[in-house]
Amino acid sequence: MSEEHGAGGGDGELEALALAVQPRAYAPYSKFRVGAAVRMSGKAYGGVNVECASFPLTVCAERNAIAAAVLDGASELEAVAVCSDASPPSSPCGGCRQVLLELAADPAAVTVTAINPRGERRAWTLAELIPHGFCGRELP
Ligand SMILES: [Zn+2]
Repeated sequence: MSEEHGAGGGDGELEALALAVQPRAYAPYSKFRVGAAVRMSGKAYGGVNVECASFPLTVCAERNAIAAAVLDGASELEAVAVCSDASPPSSPCGGCRQVLLELAADPAAVTVTAINPRGERRAWTLAELIPHGFCGRELP
């Protein structure tokens, strides 16, 4: 399956990284393992979901990838890839869409690609995933 929306071509390096890190996810409760990769300020960073027995404390793969990038000094989000076992491949949750928006200078230029190990693929721009999103520029 290949479903393309408004996004352009994917980022093969990011997709490969998301696929490679997915098995490292800590998901003993849901068994829903997610690997994510973000390109920020020209470099690729991976992350996985980390669940917690106190469920609300679980952190998604996308946000852990963002944290790794920020720790390394990266500041501008350029592209995202997310790998799960879902079919069709899962897009980022609403909370992650908001955090991705936080780091994106131009959400219409950020491609978000969802894949799974079977080779299915969907892609959007971040602007499509979170249209009219709240951002820091709106704060007084
Ligand atoms: Zn999420």
